[in-house]
Amino acid sequence: MKNIFILTGAGISAESGLKTFRDAGGLWEGHKVEDVATPGAFAVDPELVHHFYNMRREQLATVEPNAAHAALARLQEHFGEHLTLVTQNVDDLHERAGCRDVIHMHGELLKKRCASCEVVSPCTGSLTYDCVCANCGSEGRMRPHIVWFGEIPFFMDEIQEKLIEADVFIAIGTSGVVYPAAGFAEVAKHHGAKTIEVNLDGTEQSPLFDEHIIGKASETVPMLVERLR
Ligand code: NAD
Ligand code: ZN
Repeated sequence: MKNIFILTGAGISAESGLKTFRDAGGLWEGHKVEDVATPGAFAVDPELVHHFYNMRREQLATVEPNAAHAALARLQEHFGEHLTLVTQNVDDLHERAGCRDVIHMHGELLKKRCASCEVVSPCTGSLTYDCVCANCGSEGRMRPHIVWFGEIPFFMDEIQEKLIEADVFIAIGTSGVVYPAAGFAEVAKHHGAKTIEVNLDGTEQSPLFDEHIIGKASETVPMLVERLR
């Protein structure tokens, strides 16, 4: 069986009602990325950053996975361990559509982490500055379990291994400007994978792909999945 590597980005969740930010002029729900998604922003104004992610978490509870997420769950049922699903998204829509073992390289909205003891725990409600760590008792050290700009994504060793093994690499709904994820297509291609890009439009990475599927993820991904199965 072939090894399939799928990288998803904000575009796969757009039709569920979660905005991508590149499309909205570099703003994420009205905020400049550097004001809410950097370690510096959190150091300067932790309450604003907590508020921003609290709002994202509230919004997440009001949306549902779409046909693209559901199609990838069917693909995983078929390919089992031969399918690696890496997402840059911090939402849980892949999981809610039935996917397992999703690699969240940029973290997860529904988790928090203590910056003192590094213990990660579930986070479904609001997070505030005075939150006390249940593990080490530190106060004011709890942060969203999110990889901010300037921080190193999670699971990079595992991802690198899977990229090398991949026979097919598919990027879905990602603009290809956020590194290191933007470099994955090149690594996979260098190691012999066929590369497929699924997007509303061309991207900066488009020249690296052998095949381009242009259109809405909710329509194009189910078709691609049928073909691969
Ligand atoms: P991006 O916002 O930079 O780019 C989104 C891409 O999706 C664009 O290329 C766009 O053309 C494409 N797209 C938009 N709607 C689409 C649709 N219906 N079907 C197919 N393609 C569509 O997103 P990115 O590349 O993932 O990088 C953004 C960063 O922002 C990530 O690190 C991510 O963590 C974060 N983010 C996450 C979410 C989320 O979790 N849902 C939402 C916004 C931003
Ligand atoms: Zn702690």
